[in-house]
Amino acid sequence: MRDWIGLPRRGAAILALTGAVAVASCAPAITTEQEVQLGAQYAAEINRQLPIVQNPQVHYYINQLGNTIARQADPRGIQYTFYVVNAPQVNAFAVPGGFIYINRGLIERSNNLSELAGVLGHEIGHVVHRHGIEQMQRMQRAELGVNLAYILLGRAPTGVEQVGLQLGAGAYFARHSREAEREADMVAINYLIASGIHPQGLVSMFEHLLAERQRTPSTVEQWFSTHPLSEERMHDIQAAINQLPQAQLSNLARDSQAYQEFRQRVRQLPAAPR
Ligand code: ZN
Repeated sequence: MRDWIGLPRRGAAILALTGAVAVASCAPAITTEQEVQLGAQYAAEINRQLPIVQNPQVHYYINQLGNTIARQADPRGIQYTFYVVNAPQVNAFAVPGGFIYINRGLIERSNNLSELAGVLGHEIGHVVHRHGIEQMQRMQRAELGVNLAYILLGRAPTGVEQVGLQLGAGAYFARHSREAEREADMVAINYLIASGIHPQGLVSMFEHLLAERQRTPSTVEQWFSTHPLSEERMHDIQAAINQLPQAQLSNLARDSQAYQEFRQRVRQLPAAPR
């Protein structure tokens, strides 16, 4: 294990616990293999349409950090891929199968490792608990969505383009129920602790975004339209953290030199395309 973010290894018991929860909550009609295959097709289409940051150091860091958390989180052992999108708005979303997109605007607004890790943990939670797949199945039942069978048969995802991308990929995959949001928050706390990262960043990141919504609503509108975030949700996360034994939290990382260098590098990227 590399120590590039300087994190202590810990939390086998927590890992076992979150793994059990994840397995119990999904009686899959779609296998993991199918989910990854499907997700890869969505991701390929999204990558053609969104301005993905190609900087190798930026890509490397977000994938190292994200996979450090995902290894503690997802009992299925799938390889996650994280993409930084060159867009100034705050947004993040997860595609089934472990493809996670984070806007540059969100990274630039995070102040420390634990804030960015909090968002990654939340998005990983959506993948582990298959919220995106459920979302797709709901849309399919409502005959608004694509026929999954077509995609699983390996045909061109034209329906995905019509439905997912017309709505905007982010909007499509990030639009979860309040219950799904809450579940992703709560499991993210466990993932972060298991990864050696303090979960307080989940709360403080949301505080920044709520404050920004007061000042300049347009810059965070995309995020709030797809992530039903309220003061109440933030308080619930804080209450869950407050219940944890202090000894469990005391050695967790809140920040690192590598994270600060990463954020600096993101800030220096060429301007986002119009
Ligand atoms: Zn969410």
